Amino acid sequence: MHDQNRYTFLKVFLFVFFLTTGFSQAQERCKTHEWHHLKMQHDPQYRTRFQESEQAGFQSQHLRSTSVDTTIIIPVVVHILYNNNVQNLSDEQVQSQIDILNEDFAALNASVLDVPGAWTGLVKDSKIRFKLAQQDLQGNRTSGITRTSTSVSEFILFDPAIFSTTLGGQDAWPRTSYLNLWVCNLQGNALGFAAYPGSNAAQDGVVINYRALGRKGTALSPYNFGRTSTHEIGHWLVLNHIWGDDNDNCLGKDFPLNQQNIDDTPNQASPNFRCPRFPKLDECSTSDPGIMYMNYMDYTDDKCMMFFTPGQIFRMRQTLDGTRDSIQLSQGHLLPSFYTKDAAIDSVLNPVKLAATRCLQPQLRIRNNGSDTLTSLRIHYGLYEGLSKNHTWSGTILPGATELISLPEIGTAMGNQVMEFRLLSTDDNPVNNYMSAGFKVNVATNSNCSGSGLTVYPNPVSGQSVVYVRSNQVQSQQSLVRLYNALGQLLFEESLPVNAGDIIPLELGALQAGVYFVSLDGDAFIESTRFIYLPYEKN
Ligand SMILES: [Zn+2]
Repeated sequence: MHDQNRYTFLKVFLFVFFLTTGFSQAQERCKTHEWHHLKMQHDPQYRTRFQESEQAGFQSQHLRSTSVDTTIIIPVVVHILYNNNVQNLSDEQVQSQIDILNEDFAALNASVLDVPGAWTGLVKDSKIRFKLAQQDLQGNRTSGITRTSTSVSEFILFDPAIFSTTLGGQDAWPRTSYLNLWVCNLQGNALGFAAYPGSNAAQDGVVINYRALGRKGTALSPYNFGRTSTHEIGHWLVLNHIWGDDNDNCLGKDFPLNQQNIDDTPNQASPNFRCPRFPKLDECSTSDPGIMYMNYMDYTDDKCMMFFTPGQIFRMRQTLDGTRDSIQLSQGHLLPSFYTKDAAIDSVLNPVKLAATRCLQPQLRIRNNGSDTLTSLRIHYGLYEGLSKNHTWSGTILPGATELISLPEIGTAMGNQVMEFRLLSTDDNPVNNYMSAGFKVNVATNSNCSGSGLTVYPNPVSGQSVVYVRSNQVQSQQSLVRLYNALGQLLFEESLPVNAGDIIPLELGALQAGVYFVSLDGDAFIESTRFIYLPYEKN
């Protein structure tokens, strides 16, 4: 083989290799324990503070055991360090990570449905929530996202530059009021690492590879369900790896010795990768149900991570009542002052976790954060990166009040899905206009959405050159009627006032036999449907 050809062959081979093996081969899930060890060896102050922090957690177990019912909101500031445009992640990718954290820490994610029966009783809401910071310590308005253009193309592991504005990173915000989350390109393909309680304030937070944040944009399979951050924040709130980092021994060191009474995770020898099959036994757990490889503190793929146990939740809340208790007093997640016009998506009520039907009626809670009364909203929504529906709502939401809004039905498919919502408005504060919701559909039968806007008849159109289009949606403004062929080429477009029940004749005349699509693009929706055109009667 000619050298040049061999080189080309090798490149093609490598390309195919990476295509088929994905992002997982060369990744190292988490480097928190390595960082912890380095600091324990070289930083006597850290050693003392870490031990004090563990002890403080133990004491708080007796001091504030009733606090488990209160919801704790952690203000998050995300520092994006980018060396190119790809690494400068969108606000929406960042928000999708916050959405995932809230789903995971509330046990409202679709994955908990797959928790084996032996452990479903351990699936609990931690009542820990996350929100992008809305004000800095000076009371100034913030999006909760900082963006730093850096000349550093790859940060080495535990690189002090990450945490330093002068070295090409971004200084931490005060950890007493914020969780700092740095996103950057990490050398060595590490997905992330975190600072345990007791760490140096200037480097306290979590660091996440830009390819493992959220479930949009640059997030790469199999780390595109945001679980790297869920896992690292578990560390930030004191959790150890579920196998205890005890060099394949069965010492049960995932909980400290003084907390063995709340240890509710099976003893486990070493980390798991990919997606093991239940039950999985090892030398530390030799009988059913075996090891808990689907715990967030293992190393499995994102989609196979499912829950924290009550014992782990207890420890995390101890940290929030102990070493990190000042964050409970933070105002960082609250708006500093009202905007005049500021509609916000407060929460998604449907879909959540499991959808019982493939035809969903999404529900949103909208909050009026502005000082003006809200009277109308335009809402785009749809399945992942396809904001295909467009709904206009009108009504009254007073300043500070919320309103539950049900949107027209939308069809989905089987399996894990993400629905996205965006408010389109002349809004003074667009940061809170987007939200995503992960959920799962496990209903095999297809159900047609009754609210579907369009019917076309006759269908097929046979022996005549006119087809009739009927809209079921209420519509008063101008609508665009469009006709496409099967290749998606626009054949016809007309702007018309269309009201519910109106019948629109479409002249097909010279068109050839085939499949066509008609769409109606109105103020409140975009609907399309297909029909078959057979110009001549079949004999
Ligand atoms: Zn870890």
